[in-house]
Amino acid sequence: MARASIIRKTASDFRVLPNWADYEQVRSEFSWEKVQKELTGLPGGGLNIAFEAIERHAQGAWRDRVAFRFLGAGPDRAVTYHELSVLTNRFANLLGNLGIGKGDRLFVLLGRIPELYISVLGSLKNGTVACPLFSAFGPEPIATRLTLGEARVLVTTEQLYRRKVEKIRDSLPGLRHVLLVPEHGDPSADIPGTLDLSRLMAESADDFETVATQAEDMALLHFTSGTTGTPKGAVHVHGAAATHWATGKYALDLHPDDIYWCTADPGWVTGTSYGIIAPLLHGVTSIVDEADFDAERWYRILQQQQVTVWYTAPTAIRMLMKAGGEMARKYSFPKLRFIASVGEPLNPEAVWWGKETLGLPIHDNWWQTETGGIMIANTPAFDIKPGSMGRPLPGIDAFIVSRDEQGNVHIVEAPDSKGELALKRGWPSMFRGYLNNEERYRKCFAGDLYLTGDLATRDQDGYFWFIGRSDDVIKSSGHLIGPFEVESALMEHPAVAEAGVIGKPDETAGEVVKAFVSLKTGYEASDSLRMELLGHARKRLGAAVAPKEIDFLPMLPRTRSGKIMRRLLKARELGLPEGDTSTLEGQA
Ligand code: AMP
Repeated sequence: MARASIIRKTASDFRVLPNWADYEQVRSEFSWEKVQKELTGLPGGGLNIAFEAIERHAQGAWRDRVAFRFLGAGPDRAVTYHELSVLTNRFANLLGNLGIGKGDRLFVLLGRIPELYISVLGSLKNGTVACPLFSAFGPEPIATRLTLGEARVLVTTEQLYRRKVEKIRDSLPGLRHVLLVPEHGDPSADIPGTLDLSRLMAESADDFETVATQAEDMALLHFTSGTTGTPKGAVHVHGAAATHWATGKYALDLHPDDIYWCTADPGWVTGTSYGIIAPLLHGVTSIVDEADFDAERWYRILQQQQVTVWYTAPTAIRMLMKAGGEMARKYSFPKLRFIASVGEPLNPEAVWWGKETLGLPIHDNWWQTETGGIMIANTPAFDIKPGSMGRPLPGIDAFIVSRDEQGNVHIVEAPDSKGELALKRGWPSMFRGYLNNEERYRKCFAGDLYLTGDLATRDQDGYFWFIGRSDDVIKSSGHLIGPFEVESALMEHPAVAEAGVIGKPDETAGEVVKAFVSLKTGYEASDSLRMELLGHARKRLGAAVAPKEIDFLPMLPRTRSGKIMRRLLKARELGLPEGDTSTLEGQA
C-alpha cells in the first residue's frame, strides 16, 4: 500500500505537552549562553558533568527519585539520585586513594551493570577521563584502545579479565590498576595484579568534593573507526553537558516524570551521552537492561516498566518488525509517548511500523561520535517525513557542501543537491581533538565547517536525507567498524597474504562485515580454512567486529599506490558498475 510521504502531527500524538512546538521561533531565540545558565556549575566555579548530572538533584528535592533501574538476571535494582551520589563519591575517593587524579584515563570493560555507571560517573567527579568499551570486544581491539588512550585504570569483571585482558596485560605497562567487579556477589578471587572493587568501595568514604574541572577539561574519550590506521580517540569535554541538556529537551522531549529507556551500550557514544548523561541532567528515571536484544523481553520491559520515552536503534526496530505484529499485540504501551532512533538509516517502513504497531511514529535522528550529541532530528515540533533524519536542532547549523577541483569547500544552496554533510563549528559537545592526532583532527575542518564524512541532501523544507558514507567505514548493527582493524587481524593468520574488508548490505543489521582474502603460497582455499579464519577473527576481534563472511580471491584489486580498492570489491560483490578503475594496478 502506498503511504503518505509525511506524517502530520496532531494533538492526539502527544500524551503530554511537548517541550516545544514552534521550530522557527525556538531556533531564532536559542543561544548556547542561555543553555549554560540552565547548568548549576560547581560551587567554587568550574563545570563538571557528574556534578550537574547527580549532585544538583541529590542535594535537592529530587534526592529520593530513582535515577537508574537496573534489570538483569537477578531482582531489579533501583538506585536513587542520593544513592548514586554516595556510590560515585566512594568511587571517586577510591581513585584518589590509588593516586589516580585529574586527567588520568580510566577504561571500563563491563556489561550494562551498575558498576559501569558508577565507575564512569565517579571517574568524572574525580576529574579522571572515562572511556567505556564494549564488553564484546576481543583482546586486540581492547589492547589497541588501552594503549592509544594511555589507560591508567581498568574496571572489568573477573571473567572478562581472564578471557580478554590477562593475555595482553604485559603489553600495557602504563596500566597501573585493574579493579575487578565480583561475579555473582562473591568477592573477586585473588588474581595477581588486580584489586577487588567491592572491597575498595566498602573502605571508601561517602563524602567527596567534586574536583574543580573546567568546561574545556577532557571528560570522556570515545574511540571511533576510520578507513585507515588505528581507531581514533575522540576527546570530549565537561562543557558538553550543555548540548546533552539541550538535546535531551528538544530531541528526546524529556520531562522530569519520564521513565526513559536508552537501549544503547555505553561502549558507543549514544550509551554515554544519552544512556547516562542527558537523562540524569533532566532528573528522569532511566531503565538499564543488562541483557542482549530479545524481542519478547523488550516488549515486556516497555510494558512492565511503563517506559514513556524510548531511544533505540534501527537494527533493533527491524528485528522487532521481523518478530511480527502478533507478538507486539500481546503487549500494550499506554504510557509510551515518544520514540527516537539513531545510528543508521531508518527505513520509512520502520517509521510507519512504529505508528501502526506501537501507536507512535519513530523519530529518527542523526549524530556521530565526533559531534558528542544529537545534531539533526525529527522532533515533536514538526511533521515527520519518513526516511529523513529531520532538521537541525536549535543551536546547530547544517549544510550540504561540495569540493571544487582545488579541494576548496563550498556550501551548496540548491535544494536536493547531493554533497557532504557539514556543521558550523561551535556547539559545546563538539569533539576537541583526536587523541595524539592533530593532523587527522585538522582534516575534519574547512574554515568554520566541520565535515562529517557523510553524504546527504537537504530538501526545500530544510529536512536532511542520508545517502551514505563518503569513506569505507562499515556500520553493522549500529557499530562503526574500521575495515583496517579487521584486515589487520586477518593478516595475522599465517595463511593470509592480504585482506580487504567491506560492508555488505543486510536487511536487519544494515551492513555485515565481509572479508576477501588471498592466501600465501602453500595454502589452499577450503571450507575448513574459511571456518578457521572466521574463528581466528572472532577470537581476536570479538563477535561485534569480526567478519561474518569470508571469500577467497587469487589476489585483491589494488591501486597503483598499493591501496586495496575496497570500493571495487564492494561493486563486484553487489554486481554494480565498477566506476573509475583508472588507478587499478595492472590496468593499461
Ligand atoms: P558513530 O560515530 O559510531 O555514532 O557513527 C556515526 C555514523 O553513523 C554517522 O556518521 C552516520 O554515517 C551513521 N548514522 C548515525 N545516525 C544516522 C541516521 N539517523 N541515519 C543514517 N546514518 C546515521
